[in-house]
Amino acid sequence: MDCVFCKIISGDIPSNKVYEDEKVVAFYDLEPQAPVHVLIVPKVHIESVLGVDETNSAVIAHVFEVAAKLAVELGVTDGFRVVTNTGENAGQTVKHIHFHLLGGRKLGREE
Ligand code: AMP
Ligand code: ZN
Repeated sequence: MDCVFCKIISGDIPSNKVYEDEKVVAFYDLEPQAPVHVLIVPKVHIESVLGVDETNSAVIAHVFEVAAKLAVELGVTDGFRVVTNTGENAGQTVKHIHFHLLGGRKLGREE
């Protein structure tokens, strides 16, 4: 499949990984928008929030468990954001669901 995040998960293309378990991987974003900018990505290929249903939603809960751990590890518990863009108007460029963990600076309203 021609999916950049599936290729990162399979090891076909490199990434700067910060966390991995059997369900998710987390790595630093190539174009960071904040001092801490990590992507938390389910290993299963789900296109976006629109592809989440009762058969796969457990991994989304797991993403938030990992987000909580990483926020502590990466030192951003003073304030951070977990964001998932869905569709063109939201600026989704990679069609494999992922959650941006952003922190380390004051975050504006429109980000
Ligand atoms: P989105 O615009 O929400 O779909 O987010 C896609 C994000 O993936 C962007 O912030 C990109 O900088 C990031 N990105 C794309 N390719 C890579 C890659 N190979 N390694 C790390 N981050 C990437
Ligand atoms: Zn994929």
